[in-house]
Amino acid sequence: MNLQHAGIGMTSPRTRARMVDRLRAQAIRDETVLAAMNSVPRHLFVDEALAGRAYDDVSLPINYGQTISQPYIVARMTEVLRNGKQLGKVLEVGTGCGYQAAVLSQVAQQVYSVERILPLHERARKLLRELKIRNVVLRHADGTSGLTEGAPFDGIIMACAAPALSEALKGQLAVGGRMVLPVGTQEQFLYLVERTENGFKETRLEAVKFVPLLAGMA
Ligand code: SAH
Repeated sequence: MNLQHAGIGMTSPRTRARMVDRLRAQAIRDETVLAAMNSVPRHLFVDEALAGRAYDDVSLPINYGQTISQPYIVARMTEVLRNGKQLGKVLEVGTGCGYQAAVLSQVAQQVYSVERILPLHERARKLLRELKIRNVVLRHADGTSGLTEGAPFDGIIMACAAPALSEALKGQLAVGGRMVLPVGTQEQFLYLVERTENGFKETRLEAVKFVPLLAGMA
């Protein structure tokens, strides 16, 4: 990753290190995930006017009515996805500003990420190129049913909430693969779906709040 983007003051590496200390205090234990969170300059993924709040544990607007998830949720989902193991091919649905994709690029061999809103997709592409992150393939597409290109995946992360667990997405998981996603409308919960030789195992994790999965491209 290109480090000429190191910030100063509220966007400095020290501020980022404090965010990582906070994640540790919030019970994120996977050192590989913590190192990834420490290496990605989160302030570059939000509007300049919000850069000073980039390392607070809050979600922030990224335009078009969408949000970048709070650091804790990004770390937590990545930790659950990784399960302490190096990841091969991973799919993210909902690139948004590209932050989660950048974190995934540090813990997976190959990342695919789809976004339905064209300007967000284009902005993420530009930023990841500037950061010299080369193992992320970005696509402007409706990821409701996943992405045929690259499937099956060892891991799938959804950054937007579907009303119910999607059979189509589950079908894109490789045997031994894990999927972490928010499910629900008013009330949402994070789910872990594991694909085994015999089928799927679903585990409900904590309550969360995500923007909705929407159909079609914009
Ligand atoms: N991971 C992102 C979070 C973005 S918010 C980040 O780090 O910034 C969730 C994103 O999912 C939004 O940008 C939204 O446009 C996108 N989204 C919603 N429905 C989608 C769909 N069907 N296909 C692809 N992207 C979708």
